[in-house]
Amino acid sequence: MINIENSPIQEVFYNNKKIFIKRDDLLNSDFSGNKARKFHYFLINDFPCIKKVVSYGSNQSNAMYSLSVLCKLKEWEFEYYTDHLSSAMLQNPVGNLKYALQNGMKLKLFKECKYSELDNKNTLSKTIIKNNTIFIPEGGRCETSRYGINQLAKEIVKFKKEKKLINLAIFLPSGTGTTALFLQQSLVKMNDKTKVYTNACVGQKEYLRKQFLALDKNENNHPQILDTKKHTFGKLDCKMYRFWIELQKKLDIEFDLLYDPSGFWYMMDFLQKNDITEEIMYIHQGGIKGNESMIQRYKRKCGENFQYK
Ligand SMILES: *Cc1c(COP(=O)(O)O)cnc(C)c1O
Repeated sequence: MINIENSPIQEVFYNNKKIFIKRDDLLNSDFSGNKARKFHYFLINDFPCIKKVVSYGSNQSNAMYSLSVLCKLKEWEFEYYTDHLSSAMLQNPVGNLKYALQNGMKLKLFKECKYSELDNKNTLSKTIIKNNTIFIPEGGRCETSRYGINQLAKEIVKFKKEKKLINLAIFLPSGTGTTALFLQQSLVKMNDKTKVYTNACVGQKEYLRKQFLALDKNENNHPQILDTKKHTFGKLDCKMYRFWIELQKKLDIEFDLLYDPSGFWYMMDFLQKNDITEEIMYIHQGGIKGNESMIQRYKRKCGENFQYK
């Protein structure tokens, strides 16, 4: 059984600012990051009647890859549904798709779907267990994710006590916002004053606020959403690619290319504009298997020899 608790916390300096980095990318070599936290519940519990997991989403999703690892460990079948797939991608899969297929994932298109649970792909809002099968919503946006994120909160509070930190502010980027919200809720429940800050990588601030409200009506439990520029999710931005290269050079840490550059960027932006007294922690979101396909695309867009300067 693999253990995915107690990721290390590393102290770095960036632009003279001390930042603790919670290295969730190092939880385990195969099962790491944000999605490992979300699927922790399935990893540690026994499901004697389960034979299969069904989920859906993009064909480069980190959740897809992490579920493929989970299913391999559990010896469950894994069926994954997606909207579309270019023939180039099918002939030469890269990144998360390549590794998920190697782990035995069966990739299918929605039009081949035989499950009523997934007929309307946007409505699966909770985990369903039925006929020896677990249906998991896109990206692990469901209550079962709470378990692993609560574990993350416990590790952070323990660290705070050990280091005798009075005030701590946590930063992480959001997609659906599930991780940031569950983390803030867990901290509040533990009577810990640590504040969670996040930025919207998918949609704008308003979309993220709606996501939070759908999960929790009480705004006191919501993370603070940082101001960000308008950006389309997944759209390549050479400025962010350069920043990613810079982070790697200065910190010797590889981040993912989809969320972390903007998470770190807007954290630094906020720290420059606001004089906050809290100690700072950034949570590495893992997902670096997905970089393989992102780097190919970035090199095409920004130039093969694109350099940090
Ligand atoms: C899924 C994911 C996120 C977004 O997490 P949410 O809980 O949907 O906000 C951020 N970073 C990485 C690397 C991810 O895989």
